[in-house]
Amino acid sequence: MACTDLRRSIVHFCVILMMVGFSGLGCESGASSSSTLPGPNFAGPVITSSTPPIPPPPPVASPEKTVSRFQLTDRSVPASWIPSSGVPRRDWKWIVIHHSATPDGGAARFDKAHKSKGWDELGYHFVIGNGTDTPDGMIEVGSRWPVQKHGAHAKTPDNRYNEYGIGICLVGNFDLTRPTEKQMASLIRLVTYLADEYRIPTTNILGHSMTGKSTDCPGKFMDIQALRAAVARQRKGR
Ligand SMILES: [Zn+2]
Repeated sequence: MACTDLRRSIVHFCVILMMVGFSGLGCESGASSSSTLPGPNFAGPVITSSTPPIPPPPPVASPEKTVSRFQLTDRSVPASWIPSSGVPRRDWKWIVIHHSATPDGGAARFDKAHKSKGWDELGYHFVIGNGTDTPDGMIEVGSRWPVQKHGAHAKTPDNRYNEYGIGICLVGNFDLTRPTEKQMASLIRLVTYLADEYRIPTTNILGHSMTGKSTDCPGKFMDIQALRAAVARQRKGR
């Protein structure tokens, strides 16, 4: 009997406990309990990681990618690119690309070097600097161009590329280093203008070694096919 009374007492006690406990879950008490919650956070999630995320490395630009993505933004033509007034245009058929095969230089220095060989003057029509003698990507116009004089840069038995080829030299040795991005941008701009103006087919844009001459010029890092493609794309955009 005592055992039954004790069990009843325990059950009674538990019922009272439950009633007291549930009374704490009413609306009012619920309201009061929510007041203890932290306020809303409008500042966004808090990153608790102690190590900051490592940013990805910046993309490395290569002249090849620059050429393939190149878009002409400046189609203006410097006055020096236009032959002197009254001078008849030469019937240019090719554009021949060279490298200087030297780490540095510019039109003035090459002019001296060519004269020291007994040539009349600078053999190229244009020189594109690499930041040594002249600013990186700067286009110098040789003294032959305003008077539409033949070049002296790509000798062959019939001399056709000197007679009717526009000679462009980029400063640098492109067997060892790549042309700079600015040099390539200037080259595409100049070649696009010349090819359009003198109606030269894109396939007639040549590296010096493509004229039949046994030479490495303009070096393994000058990609003539990429240059042609870039120029063709600019021409289509006109
Ligand atoms: Zn050459």
